[in-house]
Amino acid sequence: MNESAALFCTGVLTKLALDAFVFIDLKNIRYCCGFTGTDGAYIFTPQRDLFLSDSRYREQSRQQVVAARKICYRNKFDSVVETLKELGLKRIGFEADTLSVAQLQELSQRSGGELEWVPVSAPMRSLRACKSVEELALLQRAADLNAAAFVEIEEMIRPGISEKAIAFELEFALRRLGGEDRAFDFIVASGPRGAMPHGVASDRLLELGDLVTIDFGTRVAGYHSDETVTLGLGEVARDLRNIFDVVLEAHDLALAKAVPGMLLADLDAIARQHIASAGFGEFFGHGLGHGVGLDIHEYPAVSGRSLEQLREGMVITIEPGIYLPGRGGVRIEDTVVITATGCRTLTHISKKYRTLA
Ligand code: ZN
Ligand code: ZN
Repeated sequence: MNESAALFCTGVLTKLALDAFVFIDLKNIRYCCGFTGTDGAYIFTPQRDLFLSDSRYREQSRQQVVAARKICYRNKFDSVVETLKELGLKRIGFEADTLSVAQLQELSQRSGGELEWVPVSAPMRSLRACKSVEELALLQRAADLNAAAFVEIEEMIRPGISEKAIAFELEFALRRLGGEDRAFDFIVASGPRGAMPHGVASDRLLELGDLVTIDFGTRVAGYHSDETVTLGLGEVARDLRNIFDVVLEAHDLALAKAVPGMLLADLDAIARQHIASAGFGEFFGHGLGHGVGLDIHEYPAVSGRSLEQLREGMVITIEPGIYLPGRGGVRIEDTVVITATGCRTLTHISKKYRTLA
């Protein structure tokens, strides 16, 4: 674990009077010690950290994991409990959002009353929200792949091609350019389907007059890209063209105003009020954005309910949208990093109105 993460975790332990923390969440484990496998546990105490996994990951953890001690187990929870007892630790924190009730019961039974298990909600989220220079470089590379892949497939976005074909070609281009995997099920929503904010690509064939919303991303060393482009095909009806302009203005306003210290709810309100004042408030139902990192959607949410402040190094999306039932929709999304004086976009496909075909 790096120094700032260790300092942060020590702070959490001190505040809650805990002796140790057990991580089960794989993204938190990766963040703490570099392990990319699919099963393991990580124990943090201010004096030492320990990584536990089964024999499948012996070699991988030898190469990847930075921890004072590595333990190979037959049964994860047996090993976790034994290790904690052996170290004389008593009050143990765990991730309230990850560990299931059944798993907690198992841990408690095996502890035989010697360990006290204390739920802690999202213990790492506030640390993970602000990205290091290394993390930013990976997020930037993932965003660069989005732009490169989009250039490759743009030609294909024409009347007669299916939404699924666009999603497939994008995924293929991202993988060929070095992306790890798709970040999520790509959204390609054309014509009336654009009214579904999460319209996963279907067999619908694109038609002249459609707006087409494409929301996609990939991963580099576990870090995600997330970006949405809306394009026109040929002559687009005036009402749809109008909502495009309103969404782009809301997007640009939020980008211009984002600054450290601002409440996330206030950032959301800037875009939301613009859309509402144009008469489309009821057609923008989701939050303005979300954190992006090892998870595609992570803390903080950029929504009216978020009383967290923007902090330098936070990476969030700005993605206002308007969705008109039966007509179509627009979403425009960039991933940005909060800087000392404002924000800088990581994603860089042009968001200006463009018509293809
Ligand atoms: Zn997206
Ligand atoms: Zn997003």
